[in-house]
Amino acid sequence: MKRLIIHWTAGTNKPCPTDLLHYHFLVSGAAEVIPGKYKVEDNENVNDGKYAAHVGGGNTGSIGVAMCGMYVPNGVNIKRTEYPLTKKQCERTFKLCADLCKKYNIPITPDTVMTHYEFGKKHPKTSSAGKIDITYLTPWEEIDTNRIGDFIRNKIRWYSEQK
Ligand SMILES: [Zn+2]
Repeated sequence: MKRLIIHWTAGTNKPCPTDLLHYHFLVSGAAEVIPGKYKVEDNENVNDGKYAAHVGGGNTGSIGVAMCGMYVPNGVNIKRTEYPLTKKQCERTFKLCADLCKKYNIPITPDTVMTHYEFGKKHPKTSSAGKIDITYLTPWEEIDTNRIGDFIRNKIRWYSEQK
């Protein structure tokens, strides 16, 4: 596997059946880790159509981890979602990402561990362009949108250094 992409589901704080098809792992608002239908290895090759489709234009070799939440009705500011990300959910996600990077030998760099938003910015001609996950972290609302990827990578690095 060459990279890991971090998402939110834009749903409630629990996975819905469709979410399970689209991500390898989901983390609920209560910080439970729920495996999706497809294994990480299913994304080594996407030609058979059996893989977790989570990052348009970049599914091959990409692990998909999603935090459940951030459903926002049309026209409503994302900060006013009824399903905000919780701090324990975010921390559990960062630890899970650290474990996955270790298991699959993925270095924690901006080119190999990124949010869906960052992937879309790097690949503007894919269907990932314009994705807003993750442009806002409820527990750390002061962090600027374009610093969130670095913040998350620092958190993942910290977890990867723990014994
Ligand atoms: Zn996404």
